[in-house]
Amino acid sequence: MGSRTRRQIAFAFGLGASCLLFYFLVHSLARLNDTEAPEIHLQRIALILAAFSIPLFTTWWRFKWIGVNILVVVFLIPIVFFVVAITKIPVFLWVFLSYGFIMGVLYRTEQYFENLIAMIEIEQEKYEDETNNLGIAFKARGEGISTFFEKYSTYYNLRKLAEELTASLSWADLAQKAVDRAIDFIPRGDFAKAVLAHGEEQKLPVVAKRRLHPVGNWSAKQGDMFDFWCIKNRKRLIIMDTQEDFRFVLSDAEKKDNVRSLIVAPLFHEGRVAGTIAIHAIRPSVFSHDDLRLLDAIATLASSAISNAILYEKTEVLAIRDSLTGLFVRRYFFERLKEEHRRALLNQKSLSFLMCDLDHFKECNDHFGHQGGDLMLVQFAEILRECLKGSLLARYGGEEFAILLPETTKAEAVKIAEQIRKAVEKNAFHIRREQVAMTVSIGVGNLPDDTLDAESLVQKADRALYQAKRQGRNRVCAAIS
Ligand code: GH3
Ligand code: MG
Ligand code: MG
Repeated sequence: MGSRTRRQIAFAFGLGASCLLFYFLVHSLARLNDTEAPEIHLQRIALILAAFSIPLFTTWWRFKWIGVNILVVVFLIPIVFFVVAITKIPVFLWVFLSYGFIMGVLYRTEQYFENLIAMIEIEQEKYEDETNNLGIAFKARGEGISTFFEKYSTYYNLRKLAEELTASLSWADLAQKAVDRAIDFIPRGDFAKAVLAHGEEQKLPVVAKRRLHPVGNWSAKQGDMFDFWCIKNRKRLIIMDTQEDFRFVLSDAEKKDNVRSLIVAPLFHEGRVAGTIAIHAIRPSVFSHDDLRLLDAIATLASSAISNAILYEKTEVLAIRDSLTGLFVRRYFFERLKEEHRRALLNQKSLSFLMCDLDHFKECNDHFGHQGGDLMLVQFAEILRECLKGSLLARYGGEEFAILLPETTKAEAVKIAEQIRKAVEKNAFHIRREQVAMTVSIGVGNLPDDTLDAESLVQKADRALYQAKRQGRNRVCAAIS
């Protein structure tokens, strides 16, 4: 039950009490003269007048002071004067004092409760304020914590990527890893790709790609105009809507790709932009500047790893390839010889070895100079490559070349050597617009026919070569078992 209802019930009770009291009052006043004991009625009248304090209280409770004032002026004063007039006893006027006392008590009570309520309200407001402040602080802290976790996970992911990028020395692998992680970290995109131009390439081939959802340019083999923009301006790029961006005019083919928003970050190699890593989406306004910053961080990590891998690849090529002929160098050749030797023994297969030496090469050098001789060596290497596709060819020394033929019998090796000899004999070498003839002598060694040892296989072929020279050059000699 609400306080308003309670007050209304109390007021109704007061009203009822008033009517009843008024009835008793009139009744007592009427019986005043015809009884032997008038003082009893006078006592009753006094009690009744005092009992009017009950409706006084309920009226105050219901209507506050305005109700009390109306009640006193309109009802109680006339009643008291009426009683005094009838009884001719002015003492009843003292009843006012009791009313006054009750009103005083009510007034004080009201003051007390008003103060109390005001204090409670102030306290309540204070607590409400505090609750609000705590709520705001809690929300801010909650946001802070979620930002912290977001930053932490970004940092963690980047660290993991950095670790992953140390695991490979192949730039193609690294580019793929960077693309995979880019789309993992920014899964709002539909398609990620990396383009990279290194070496002599003028174009911008796609070297790695991954898509989460089907989009148009999945089959693209070359970089697009956004990649070129990023490379030219050496800057990362974000496009909210390709159809709205005034910097780019899409061709019909590009419109078909249906790429609406994208982010691109540059990949650096040796201080220049050598490629890009990009994420595309088929919906507009998919990426935020935070996404772009994250992609840029991935690109920076990937750049140094890819750059290292490219340099490593170059050094590796330099270390194992002869710079003049492009054939393997002697040291690398011996490593491979050991491997092939082990494999041949293990699988009980034949392994042949050819040692070639150009005939009277010194004369060529004397006639055309050292550089002319070099041209001869380059052309000879080219003949070897043509005759022996997929075989292990090495420049053994100055104008000596070594050839390893796995799973080749001695007879087959002699046949191959003969083909080489003939090809050289028939070939017209060109040195400074002059046609020059050249011949070659070849020694053949074989495992298991001549030896089971790798070193002596070389020695056997070398001795056979010496034999070929002694027999007049331009010939093939097989080792004598
Ligand atoms: P032979 O038929 O007996 O083999 O006669 P040859 O003149 O070829 O004699 P030899 O093999 O002893 O001479 C090899 C020459 O090759 C000696 C050296 O000046 C030359 N030479 C070695 N390395 C190079 C090179 O890298 N470039 C050039 N142009 N000449 C080289
Ligand atoms: Mg020689
Ligand atoms: Mg020679």
